[in-house]
Amino acid sequence: MNRFRVKKVAVLGAGVMGAQIAAHLVNVKVPVVLFDLPAREGLKNGIVAKAVEGLKKLKPAPLGVAEDAALIQQANYEEHLDLLGECDLVIEAIAERMDWKLDLYRRMAPALAPHAIVASNTSGLSITRLAEALPEAIRPRFCGIHFFNPPRYMYLVELIAAPATLPQVLDDLETFVVRGLGKGVVRAKDTPNFIANRVGIAGMLATMREVENFGLSYDVVDDLTGKKLGRASSGTFRTADVVGLDTLAHVIRTLQDNLDADADPFYPSFGTPAVLQALLEMGHLGQKSKAGFYKKV
Ligand code: NAD
Repeated sequence: MNRFRVKKVAVLGAGVMGAQIAAHLVNVKVPVVLFDLPAREGLKNGIVAKAVEGLKKLKPAPLGVAEDAALIQQANYEEHLDLLGECDLVIEAIAERMDWKLDLYRRMAPALAPHAIVASNTSGLSITRLAEALPEAIRPRFCGIHFFNPPRYMYLVELIAAPATLPQVLDDLETFVVRGLGKGVVRAKDTPNFIANRVGIAGMLATMREVENFGLSYDVVDDLTGKKLGRASSGTFRTADVVGLDTLAHVIRTLQDNLDADADPFYPSFGTPAVLQALLEMGHLGQKSKAGFYKKV
């Protein structure tokens, strides 16, 4: 019998993914504590408040009614880590940086409930290495939970075990993801970028190389790789803008750092495309910064 009950979830990170994972949870009436860094100068209401306001403005709005928004409790790591003790599931969705994730895991570990499942939404960092930052007692309850963007609509979730993850924990989490969230699960091995992003990045980089070689326009390529081809998702460049160009660069870097350049067919030998590098240097991160491959996205 499955005894794992999800009464409250902590989502760590109120960015592109964390905010929308929180929205999906409240849409199925699961209360959420949504964490991010404390308010910084120049950001009047804090990162989490801004994210919740952003969710209300999305079309269709995921937080259309007042009681839905009230299901999201706003928190930061400086003042509210004790709230983790009330959560049965913790989904980490902070920026795709191993060092930042490890630091946060060390800080949050003492506050976790003993029964809680902890899962990272990393796009492809090593789940094994992430687990090592947690105390041994927590490692059996830790794994990867890779949602796709936008997580309210994308059906697939990859679940990834670390060496110490208990099979029962994966089974419990899969039951929640399938029955509670209405998603489909594929269990992936802990390889760089797991399955979908390893294959997907290879296709994306090959497309970008052709664009550079032949001077094609983004619109034409997006037509060819997206809706006009019959795919439900947007094409290559609009997808990159939605993902976030900084996140995309981190995901490419994960493959470069961890695959054998000579032997692995998914090694990104094309590297980080020059145009992507140039946009990053200008601080154009795609939809989240209102400019990316497309100026207004
Ligand atoms: P994002 O850049 O939109 O948000 C990241 C959040 O992390 C920000 O709100 C930021 O304030 C916070 N943050 C930054 N530094 C931090 C630190 N040192 N400690 C704690 N928090 C910090 O990123 P995102 O696109 O939401 O990605 C989050 C995670 O989800 C990443 O691991 C990413 O690889 C993964 N992911 C992203 C996508 C996508 O399409 N964007 C899809 C699947 C998985």
